[in-house]
Amino acid sequence: MSGRLILCATPIGNLDDMSPRAAQTLADAHIIACEDTRRTRKLLSHLGLTAREMVVYNDSTERRRAPELADAVARGRVVVLVSDAGMPGLSDPGFHLVKLCAEKALPIEIVPGPNAALSALAISGLAPGRFVFEGFLPRRSGERKRHLAELAQEKRTLVFYESPHRLASCLQDIADVLGEDRPAAVARELTKMHEEVRRGTLAELATWAAKAPPRGEMVVVVSGAVGDSKPEVSDDDLAGAAKELMGSGVPRSQALSEVAREMGVPRRKVFNALLKD
Ligand code: SAM
Repeated sequence: MSGRLILCATPIGNLDDMSPRAAQTLADAHIIACEDTRRTRKLLSHLGLTAREMVVYNDSTERRRAPELADAVARGRVVVLVSDAGMPGLSDPGFHLVKLCAEKALPIEIVPGPNAALSALAISGLAPGRFVFEGFLPRRSGERKRHLAELAQEKRTLVFYESPHRLASCLQDIADVLGEDRPAAVARELTKMHEEVRRGTLAELATWAAKAPPRGEMVVVVSGAVGDSKPEVSDDDLAGAAKELMGSGVPRSQALSEVAREMGVPRRKVFNALLKD
């Protein structure tokens, strides 16, 4: 068998979601690189398998281990990368190793399978045609709101990973910044015994999550901005508003700040609009 890196998706809950090809891939691996050996051993034992060699590849070892594993691939080893659940690399370790193997022109293969974001998107009832995967939002509310402000005009469906203890505050922040009436869904414990999908407006979901904080793993899916929600402000509009203020005696610097605040755009954008004018 020639050396290669294989990214192998694993179940996000129900172990029977492991495909026969994925199971065979684990059985054939020279090295299984995994986030948590106990978790992966549980999966292997469910499949009646034992690993030849296991290496811990997690957030703290990723940068150090990637060169060792790429070397193993170069020496003819079949390295199979799995995460605790779902697709490695997606909000999980994997990127550094894939990048390194790609740079070294080493063979890389994929064994696709379960993924929480796509599963939640598909079952959400919100338009799945065009979407943006945002992973986890920043933990602190201020930073989170600034990040969300950048997404306020995004027309594609938004997909976020979230932890149960932050769900209520996150939904409230999303509602505050993107609008309380936006349709959304929380997909919880997918493929597990307590699988549940809650659909409603952001305000309804925030109230639900605050009243009885749901447990387990969850994905938040939010409808994109509708076309006429907030028209993009043109440079002409910005320059016009700033000139109007300056014409009435407001100093240039103050006028830039006032227009930026009123129009909800960065001050630099008003400055550039004035330069262009
Ligand atoms: N790599 C994984 C994937 O492909 O989905 C995601 C790993 S990320 C560290 C873990 C997050 O995925 C959880 O916090 C949750 O947001 C989401 N997640 C994982 N399993 C889930 C499930 N069964 N139901 C809902 N969300 C899940």
